[in-house]
Amino acid sequence: MRFGDIEVRYIDAGSFWLDGGSMFGIVPRTMWEKKMIPDDRHRLKFACNSLLVRAGGKTVLVETGNGTKWDEKLRKIYGFPANDPLTESLAKEGVKPEEVDLVINTHLHFDHAGGNTRLIDGRAVPAFPKAKYVVQKTEMEHALKPTERDRASYYAQDFVPVTEAGQWQYVDGDAELFPGISVAKIPGHNLQIQAIQIRGGEKKLMYVSDLLPTRHHLPLPWIIAYDLYPLTTLETKRKWIGEFVRDGWIVVLGHDPDFAAGTLHERDGKVAFEPVDLNR
Ligand SMILES: [Zn+2]
Repeated sequence: MRFGDIEVRYIDAGSFWLDGGSMFGIVPRTMWEKKMIPDDRHRLKFACNSLLVRAGGKTVLVETGNGTKWDEKLRKIYGFPANDPLTESLAKEGVKPEEVDLVINTHLHFDHAGGNTRLIDGRAVPAFPKAKYVVQKTEMEHALKPTERDRASYYAQDFVPVTEAGQWQYVDGDAELFPGISVAKIPGHNLQIQAIQIRGGEKKLMYVSDLLPTRHHLPLPWIIAYDLYPLTTLETKRKWIGEFVRDGWIVVLGHDPDFAAGTLHERDGKVAFEPVDLNR
């Protein structure tokens, strides 16, 4: 889909399984199982939704999914696929890893930054050798010193090799990266997470990552249990969902397994989701 001179394509960065309860917080299973059906281990299947953005001769990748650096035990727990979905999806779009100029991570949890690096002879190296990688500076500081509550989401191998290669381009707060492409902080999941905004041709798109992992998270109290600041998430959701409805933004969901993108509409006092195919 085009946004003026900017082209945006949906990229499938793979799937994984997470505990259903942890993804719906205080919402009881009797309610969420009507929306998503768990397996016999109480797990739900989620997607890692990425974007390929071409603008001003640059190739930009938003989010890198779970990556491929997993041992057998963790592959079983999370049900990661055996292949390399991100690289394969990029290849289908005619993009080689060395052709990516910029990688944007919303935050450094493994399901968003896992594909930042890959193993060569047992050593993690940047998967996109010529790219600059963008993240909030404060998120890097946090990732190096996470709390006991969120440290299972951070793997140094996803980001330290990028530091060692000198490939980080840190941002501090809301910032424009290229004309029409910006990042904006969306606190709640943690305090440093950022969204990606694309504006052009009178259209607007926002990649909202874990603020709205799926369309089922549109009701305000449907907040994932991983969030460090759920009441902040509540207010960030209230603000942005209002703007999405009012201004007709295309919203890209971090983990929806059925629809990566859509528009939001107020119907009978509820927010309805209308899918949009970015790759039409
Ligand atoms: Zn996530």
